[in-house]
Amino acid sequence: MKLKLHRASDRPTKVAPAENFTGTVMQDPVLVGEAPSRMRATNVHFTPGARTAWHQHPVGQTLLAVSGIGRVQIEGEPVQELRPGDTAIIPPNTRHWHGAAPDRLFTHLAMSETGEDGSGTAWFEHVSDTDYGKKPA
Ligand code: MN
Repeated sequence: MKLKLHRASDRPTKVAPAENFTGTVMQDPVLVGEAPSRMRATNVHFTPGARTAWHQHPVGQTLLAVSGIGRVQIEGEPVQELRPGDTAIIPPNTRHWHGAAPDRLFTHLAMSETGEDGSGTAWFEHVSDTDYGKKPA
């Protein structure tokens, strides 16, 4: 086996699709694992006020806050603030959203696994301004 090295310069930053995100969000690919790995990792950059739509992951998701100030919420629970070094662990098949604080940039490393059947993220409606605007716990 040989080392695989993905140079940053070979993988341009992508703009996240408006269908699944509110505001401007940029994604830097980190890893799409090859079988038997089902691991996926993406470094995601949210501009102030930007966030994901409601969604869920078949095997859950781990978010490592890298820079700025962010927000995360599991449906039915309070909004939580995320700061650099914080890790948020989202359980499997649980509706949630994550994004930047209203007035700050935010970057997190998002890590998840596809389902055993190859299924990925299930996307739902956008997060309303009312839900997004709730004060973090
Ligand atoms: Mn998520």
